[in-house]
Amino acid sequence: MSDTYDVIVVGLGGHGSAAARQLARRGARVLGLERFGPVHAQGSSHGDTRIVRMAYFEHPDYVPLLRRSYELWAELSRAVDEELFVRTGALMIGAPESAVVSGTLASVERWGLPHEVLDRPTMARRYPQFRLRAGELAVYEADAGYVSPQAAVRTHLRLAAADGAELRFLTTVTGWHTDSTGVVVEIGDDEVRADKLVITAGAWTAQLAPRLGVPLRVGRRVMHYLVPLTSAADFAPDRFPVFIFSTGPGDEIYGFPIIGAAANGVKVGFHHRGPDVDPDTVDRRVSPAEEEEMRQLLADRIPAAAGPHVQSKVCLYTLTPDEHFVIDHLPGGDDRVVVASACSGHGFKFTPVVGEILADLALTGSTPQPIEFLSAARFAVH
Ligand SMILES: Cc1cc2nc3c(=O)[nH]c(=O)nc-3n(C[C@H](O)[C@H](O)[C@H](O)COP(=O)(O)OP(=O)(O)OC[C@H]3O[C@@H](n4cnc5c(N)ncnc54)[C@H](O)[C@@H]3O)c2cc1C
Repeated sequence: MSDTYDVIVVGLGGHGSAAARQLARRGARVLGLERFGPVHAQGSSHGDTRIVRMAYFEHPDYVPLLRRSYELWAELSRAVDEELFVRTGALMIGAPESAVVSGTLASVERWGLPHEVLDRPTMARRYPQFRLRAGELAVYEADAGYVSPQAAVRTHLRLAAADGAELRFLTTVTGWHTDSTGVVVEIGDDEVRADKLVITAGAWTAQLAPRLGVPLRVGRRVMHYLVPLTSAADFAPDRFPVFIFSTGPGDEIYGFPIIGAAANGVKVGFHHRGPDVDPDTVDRRVSPAEEEEMRQLLADRIPAAAGPHVQSKVCLYTLTPDEHFVIDHLPGGDDRVVVASACSGHGFKFTPVVGEILADLALTGSTPQPIEFLSAARFAVH
């Protein structure tokens, strides 16, 4: 005899933990299933920082979702009496025609977002850590910064449990199917039942939702931490905002100030460089050649950051073909299964609003949030 829940959430990382919290606070009977422990380093939501920004170069349609996400970060911070969203400001740097700069300006113009455009001489004065080429510029957004993904996941899980969600860790979902009574989720030889299923399995989404109809790729990406060659104060949060730097066509690095002790170093990573991998067999070691590749780029663009390596960590991007999220019911007319692949390397800042949207879709079948541009149908072969 198996239990029956209102909703089962598969995968309790960034988005699944947020969905479990939003479902539980609405009074749903929720079961969350996670193959690893609570807050682990095997998926996409580990490390200590993720950029949060509103002036969104990827597409202006994300801005309404970001407004709601900002509200929910504030609400979450109040609920636990701890500021989860640390404001450092953000710099989007590059050539005027780069996606990073032109896309950011398109978003700020469409939505009237506060920002400053900083030309190369102004950047040299205000942020001499960065070395811009002739013609390059930056767009500065003050209302931006970072959240700790691990703190956010932990907080969502804690609040979900406090509202009655049952959370099972070290529990791998091996399959699922629907029948006349609802959704049956398989855990080896065992099974659990629910009216609705939310799949937030990150890099494993293609395995659990093959009928999604979206060719998802998993990319291996490395986060490097380096101790600066100059004073740590030059890279403190009040002097060195979070940034994305378009360093050449199709190439971007992102980074963060030193958080806490100087010995922690600055964190930097390549946004696009990295191979496609299988999440079950990915090599999680980082080679000296990879560290050197980053050091060389820094020596050219942020020279004082090109100091000794502290550590490097492998993280996984789950990429859609257009690098925009998919948040939708599973195609095929069955509204009982909802899937979110809200990654493509930029999804963490959205976790609170994605959790809310998933709760909407699972409990009511629709959401007031404007997510049409994130439908699975856009990839349908006609
Ligand atoms: C290096 C790096 C830098 C990034 N920088 C930023 C940034 O600055 N700003 C930003 O907004 N975003 C950033 N992102 C993206 C962001 O972190 C991701 O979009 C987000 O973490 C994705 O969350 P998720 O819930 O989809 O995946 P995850 O957090 O990985 O969660 C998926 C969960 O599903 C579980 N699972 C999978 N299969 C099963 C199964 N069969 N049974 C049970 N459980 C299962 C997994 O164990 C995992 O816990 C970055 C990502 C990386 C890797």
